[in-house]
Amino acid sequence: MPTQTKENYLKAIYFLKINHEEVTITALGKAMAVSKPTVNNMVKKLSDKGWINYEKYRPLSLTPSGEKAAALIIRKHRLTEMFLVQIMGFGWEEVHQIAEEMEHLKTEGLFDRMDEILGYPTTDPHGSPIPDKHGKYNRKTYAILSSFGVGAKVTLRAVGDSSVALLTLLNEKNIRLGTVFTIMKIEAFDKTMVLNYGDHKAITLSNEVCKRLLVE
Ligand SMILES: [Zn+2]
Repeated sequence: MPTQTKENYLKAIYFLKINHEEVTITALGKAMAVSKPTVNNMVKKLSDKGWINYEKYRPLSLTPSGEKAAALIIRKHRLTEMFLVQIMGFGWEEVHQIAEEMEHLKTEGLFDRMDEILGYPTTDPHGSPIPDKHGKYNRKTYAILSSFGVGAKVTLRAVGDSSVALLTLLNEKNIRLGTVFTIMKIEAFDKTMVLNYGDHKAITLSNEVCKRLLVE
């Protein structure tokens, strides 16, 4: 079993936990798009590695060493994204897939050097926190744009989805981290929001988009 696969399972468990979802074999199978027997098999391997606590028919949890290992993979991922955007000039919609590959490299020094060159950033280009080299970070909790009412004025701090499709849509509408929205109207039918921001007036965003924009 390649290490990369184990690391991807570890990340999936970590993200389920962060999203306050119960980490069951079913949930993990769904997250990884594989069958339950495949997950069961992998979970035993992760348990042998000391990364997770596993008892039959009970939700899984990460051990402290599993938690740290996951945070360090995410550190590599997010530093790569930041480096590609800040230093190499990539768009925020272009970097996730590259980071998915880079995060499995074992050359820790490379990422420490990126961190240093970037000036030790605490967030990535999508507003997600970057763990430090000990796997520690401060997680800020933001509200989703769709939870606000007419008249609210909020600032975009992070996106809850770094898919090319969403980020391209935001690019087309000139929306980036730091954009300040004023909610002008919410359609009763489907919760589409009508927003003003910068020089843009009465721009509409669907509820599917608004649910993915993290603001304060
Ligand atoms: Zn990413």
